[in-house]
Amino acid sequence: MFRQCPRRWKFRYVDRLPDPPGQAALAGTFAHSVLEGLMQMDKGERTFESVRGIAKREWPKMERSPAFQALGLDADAVRAFKWQSWEAITGLWDLEDPRAVDVDETELRVRVELGGVPFLGYVDRIEIDGDEVVISDYKSGRPPPPRFESRSIEQVLLYAAAIAEMESRTPARVRLMYLGRKIIEAEVTAEAIDDVVDRLQETWADILEGLEKRDFPAKPTRLCGWCVFSEHCPEGTSQVMRDRNHIFKEIHAEAV
Ligand code: SF4
Repeated sequence: MFRQCPRRWKFRYVDRLPDPPGQAALAGTFAHSVLEGLMQMDKGERTFESVRGIAKREWPKMERSPAFQALGLDADAVRAFKWQSWEAITGLWDLEDPRAVDVDETELRVRVELGGVPFLGYVDRIEIDGDEVVISDYKSGRPPPPRFESRSIEQVLLYAAAIAEMESRTPARVRLMYLGRKIIEAEVTAEAIDDVVDRLQETWADILEGLEKRDFPAKPTRLCGWCVFSEHCPEGTSQVMRDRNHIFKEIHAEAV
């Protein structure tokens, strides 16, 4: 977030303005919790029937959560939410047969220093493939375009670096599992780890400098339209207005 827009990071982590999860993010959270339950079962029991049972068991917790209540969904929208979650959950079968996976850990909390930078993360899944350790992270959104794949894999490479730091084993591969869509995979090499830790150090240094100077520049882009903090951000508001005018002009030109 800091690299995309330092101002947005400041609103979120310094000013601590509310940033409630949207419907898609919450449906993804629900899918994660159900898949965690599934992968904690014995291999042979990881079936559609089992996952349906876990979803039923987990649903009341989600339904009662303040984040879900805050969405204010009516009955039709709740049905759509459940369907969206179910599509993500069953999308695992498009990527693999869960009964063939040797799971070592799920939802592992990692807290270490990487290159002197404090790092905290939750690893969705560690599995053993032959004699290799593989780290996987579930994603319920759309995969990035190919040119951004290497950027998106950084998160799991940092998990690999954290596991290597905490334990006496280095993962061989990392995977982003875009449920129902595709897997993006990378080999874990010493060079790849050095690169992501270097970038983490650079970002951390920029954060510390921003905090010292109280300076968090806005980086307006077309994504400002989706930024929950845009009403607090003059640069973002201008960007949103510019984008709207641009769209109106295009529609007008087409109509003429
Ligand atoms: S509106 Fe745009 S520029 Fe402003 S904080 Fe959000 S992402 Fe950054």
